Amino acid sequence: MKPLLAGRRGLILGVANKNSIAWATLKEASNHGAELGATCQNDRFFRRVSKLIEKDDLPETSLWVCDATQPEELDALFTHIEEELGGLDFILHGWAFAPPDALADDFIETSWEAFQTAQRISAHSLVEIARRARPLMAPGASIVTLSYLGSQRVMPGYNVMGVVKATLESSVRYLARDLGVDGIRVNALSPGPISTLSARGVPGFSKMLEAHADRAPLGRNVTHEEVAQAAVFLFSPMASAITGEIINVDAGYSIMGI
Ligand code: NAD
Repeated sequence: MKPLLAGRRGLILGVANKNSIAWATLKEASNHGAELGATCQNDRFFRRVSKLIEKDDLPETSLWVCDATQPEELDALFTHIEEELGGLDFILHGWAFAPPDALADDFIETSWEAFQTAQRISAHSLVEIARRARPLMAPGASIVTLSYLGSQRVMPGYNVMGVVKATLESSVRYLARDLGVDGIRVNALSPGPISTLSARGVPGFSKMLEAHADRAPLGRNVTHEEVAQAAVFLFSPMASAITGEIINVDAGYSIMGI
């Protein structure tokens, strides 16, 4: 297959380990010829992901620590990008977090602190990223974030993350409008459940996997690679007229009634 991202520079936010959707996206984008930078939340993940980069022979990939709640780390990240990549053609935003208590209790028990934390890291961080990335991006650039159907339907245990994903999806539309004048596209992928560090923190996650495989028209769950391939498509010129969209990568689960 012709490399879709040859000569393009990308930033992949939120690699925790080899199961992260961000890691699968980094590898897929690299296979498609992109020059890449990536972030980890802290030093512990940094050490782990540095080893993955070495093992998978992706030596050209720059890796930085960046915590979404630290504005100075966000500023430093974009200084590094400007110095090391010289500009940006695409971004995968793969950051999400909600305090575990907010997922364990009923949604009605959600505290303001937990609500705020989840919104800041999982939704507002996209706005922080888009604003800083804008000056480094040229027409044709693409920003992709990751949502989930819990934004529209009640998924027991997903709770505040569902509400936050609704904010994220609406933010995609507002950002697509703001950045459209610069020719920058903003979209979200909405994958079905996939086993990752964050997903395993959702109570009843294994039941979600079973229900999804049982009810999805394709009769199975989706893979990390399938989500990564959809992201590469959205990063690429093949998706040049697609912006402001939430695209399901869910083996068809979301179309089903009963
Ligand atoms: P993951 O745990 O591998 O990735 C989540 C990332 O968010 C981690 O790298 C973590 O370090 C980072 N993060 C959390 N708090 C942060 C902070 N304060 N600052 C910076 N980074 C922070 O899990 P994943 O499933 O690959 O998640 C990636 C995205 O995909 C998330 O937005 C998630 O909601 C979304 N998603 C996942 C699934 C699924 O079933 N796995 C389904 C739909 C959507």
